[in-house]
Amino acid sequence: MRLFVPESAPLPVAGPLVGEQVQALLRDRDIEYRPQHALGSGDAAERTLALKGGERGRYDLLLAVPPHAPPPPPLQDTPPVNEAGWVTVNQHTLETSVPDVFAIGDATEIPLPKADVFAEGEAKATALASSRSAAAAPGTRREPAGPSPWWGWYKS
Ligand SMILES: Cc1cc2nc3c(=O)[nH]c(=O)nc-3n(C[C@H](O)[C@H](O)[C@H](O)COP(=O)(O)OP(=O)(O)OC[C@H]3O[C@@H](n4cnc5c(N)ncnc54)[C@H](O)[C@@H]3O)c2cc1C
Repeated sequence: MRLFVPESAPLPVAGPLVGEQVQALLRDRDIEYRPQHALGSGDAAERTLALKGGERGRYDLLLAVPPHAPPPPPLQDTPPVNEAGWVTVNQHTLETSVPDVFAIGDATEIPLPKADVFAEGEAKATALASSRSAAAAPGTRREPAGPSPWWGWYKS
């Protein structure tokens, strides 16, 4: 069995140690791990795949995730939405470019996998930031200290 993935390591967001452990588990089961192999196209009738690097092959069982796309209207053409269609947010507070308007979840542009576990963390960060914002006197709101965005604790 061979596993082709576009990333350079398994679960890059979880750090190199987790990636090495996942690779060891795959080796134990004689599963060949092939990183940096993005899917180009597939033919379901022929059960063949073409990778972007040019490699082709047959498959028995295909587990594929379609490309992520930004949400449809009514979000589009509103101020916090960037040209690609994702909602731009402050990575510390999840606040959009519109003061006191926050966005979480798959619609946001944030360098994390689009997963519920992160949406939940974003909800907590948003609750903290919005309550601080509500408690602050007008004009006294401060940006969070430190260079790390809210998900730094996931990696520690
Ligand atoms: C097959 C699959 C497996 C997954 N497995 C995992 C997993 O194991 N672990 C994990 O952490 N994450 C997993 N995820 C990802 C996870 O489901 C998403 O990251 C998470 O649901 C994002 O939450 P969200 O609230 O941003 O968006 P969503 O859960 O998509 O919620 C958006 C909601 O908005 C509604 N909506 C859309 N347009 C409108 C509109 N115009 N008006 C009103 N409502 C509207 C939709 O109906 C939907 O209910 C998986 C996703 C898929 C597809």
